[in-house]
Amino acid sequence: MRKRLIAGNWKLNGNWSLCEQMLWALSGENGFVAQSNTELVICPPAVYLSRLSQMISASGGPSKLGGQDVSADIDGAHTGELSAAMLAECGVQYGIVGHSERRLRFSETDQQVAQKMLRLSEASITPIVCVGEALAQRDAGQALAVIEAQLQPIGEALLANRIAIDSIAIAYEPIWAIGTGRSATPEQAQEVHAHIRSVMEQIEDASGLRIIYGGSVNADNAATLLAMADIDGALIGGAALDPQQFSYIAGL
Ligand code: PEP
Repeated sequence: MRKRLIAGNWKLNGNWSLCEQMLWALSGENGFVAQSNTELVICPPAVYLSRLSQMISASGGPSKLGGQDVSADIDGAHTGELSAAMLAECGVQYGIVGHSERRLRFSETDQQVAQKMLRLSEASITPIVCVGEALAQRDAGQALAVIEAQLQPIGEALLANRIAIDSIAIAYEPIWAIGTGRSATPEQAQEVHAHIRSVMEQIEDASGLRIIYGGSVNADNAATLLAMADIDGALIGGAALDPQQFSYIAGL
């Protein structure tokens, strides 16, 4: 059985106060009951990771930490970059790669995303690999083909490096649904998730692969999305900045 994965991507938001409020919202002291079949991941800006890791350990809370990105390089003259090994030293267990904001704003290619995934795997950090189509691509009936193309270098890298398919997670994030308040319907998301599983099945048994949905998930729509057969969790942006909303979704 696949463990549900609920991850909050804070992007360029948050501060120490939010770190404290989030840990409080996700603590037993506040009445939060962690589901045994759910993994909770908080992905704050990198500067908060190290101390947040210590705060989580001290509180005994259920949260894990995730990075929002990682360098495709191992080390060297790459000003401003963070390596997978550095993230691991800060207590990071999950790492987002290929978010559409990075693909679009920083021109990250599918090949670079695959490289970043490899760096995380080498550091024993679980990659959350984001894929998703733009609205024009969906309207042109190209959504599944676009996602297949994004997955191709991922599949090749997994095969070439003998990385088990269920040691990564894939996040389906339609670009038109991110930060727009317009979520994909559960049926639209399920169709793509099932397709992703069938594409990855060509590499190896993908029944253990977690495929999570991202795009305007909130307390109102999370339950119906999470009820779909191939939706194994959520990658959440805006609602992950609201401790009450995030803890509600995490507790579903
Ligand atoms: C995201 O950026 O990954 C995301 C899903 O954002 P939001 O939930 O705000 O749409």
